[in-house]
Amino acid sequence: PESPRGICGATADVMVTRNLLRAVASGSGCYIHVVENTALNLKNTALEKGKLKGLGALERLCKTFGVSGKDDHEKALNVANAVLEDLYKPEYVKMDLVEKMAYPPRFKVWKELGILPGGAKSEVFKGVVKCSTNLNSDPVNMLLDCLRLGISTGIYGLTLTNLLNDVLLGEPEIRMAPVGLRVIDPDYINIMITGHQHTMFVHLQERLIAPDVVAKAKAVGAKGFKLVGCTCVGQDLQLRGAHYTEIFDGHAGNNYTSEAILATGAIDAVLSEFNCTLPGIETVCDTLSIKQICIDDVAKKANAELKQFVFAERGKHSEEIIDAIIASYKERRPKVKLNLLPEHGYENNLTGVSEVSLKKFLGGNWKPLVDLIVSGDIKGVAGVVGCSSLVAGGHDVLTVALVKELIARDIIVLTAGCSSGGIENCGLMVPEAAELAGPKLKAVCKKLG
Ligand code: SF4
Repeated sequence: PESPRGICGATADVMVTRNLLRAVASGSGCYIHVVENTALNLKNTALEKGKLKGLGALERLCKTFGVSGKDDHEKALNVANAVLEDLYKPEYVKMDLVEKMAYPPRFKVWKELGILPGGAKSEVFKGVVKCSTNLNSDPVNMLLDCLRLGISTGIYGLTLTNLLNDVLLGEPEIRMAPVGLRVIDPDYINIMITGHQHTMFVHLQERLIAPDVVAKAKAVGAKGFKLVGCTCVGQDLQLRGAHYTEIFDGHAGNNYTSEAILATGAIDAVLSEFNCTLPGIETVCDTLSIKQICIDDVAKKANAELKQFVFAERGKHSEEIIDAIIASYKERRPKVKLNLLPEHGYENNLTGVSEVSLKKFLGGNWKPLVDLIVSGDIKGVAGVVGCSSLVAGGHDVLTVALVKELIARDIIVLTAGCSSGGIENCGLMVPEAAELAGPKLKAVCKKLG
């Protein structure tokens, strides 16, 4: 900067830190919104004694939280309430589950540093207040808020969202599954799903394979309905795909692949409930007469119909959504040209890896993996996680090149988020990718088949 201070006297450090805290508070708000809705859906499902697909996950959460119940539904209710009670605490009351969820030595350090978070929603509120005009001017103080928000977002927004999803949607199972544009089958009415709040369309998903709804699809010339995976919610369904073989076709691609998925012409509707439903798809949907429906107004798209998810009204909404999508199929299919890419992607991708499924695969303990690291057959494990980006060479260029370099050096890679979508669409999750690995890792892969 030309001047050491802004017109109000703020230093460059203050300005940068304010902007960082604003971004961190906003990001935390997003994922606390997701865990809040997920916990509410678990609570409401438990109250009406609905289906719980992951009872093993429920037992583990009960044990971690120290809660119980006379049956599975009461246990699920108590688990959901424990999460919600923490989220709604004021900022000056610490959340109870942090200590139960965290790695103990790390919790000790957080405590010593004074960065244990209060109620997650209140922490977001405080962060937003602090970074407003001419309030906080102490960069270190604001950075400590960023750390506090990081803890609550990581434990609640990410880890607990996944574990609550395990209870409601079923736990991941290791299996091979297709990815890429090849998963789109034009004989079906295809719904591209985008977002992160999969528990919101459990009811709709079940209805889409019910005989009376399949009959409606057949009456307009389709074989039935299929969900086509896109963004994080597609990746999540891919992971849990063993429970959804009838309705889910596979993960077509990540956030920036959404335009290409729609450009095939075979998608009849986009159902979105969170990010990353790119504004860029709106013009594609308009051009190809694709119906857009949002079920959470936080992600309302300009051209979409809003059907705000309300648990008690989900039966009525599911029927309305199904009818709107059938109408879209009927109207658009005779006039839209298909541009399918049946060769795109791969048929045989590894998916369903979670802490629980991987440990089970290894025989119930981590020793086989630890032994491989100790013997030097695998140099280590690297996480390549997060959103995909268009910078650093283009869509997925950096992540794919990075993974190739890591495996060539005998480092095994774990991926999550949209990074996975790119890495799998580029053929790094098929058994043949072992050929790209360094000699030691390649030998381990071949031994495991
Ligand atoms: S991983 Fe990132 S880019 Fe992909 S859907 Fe999630 S938030 Fe969006």
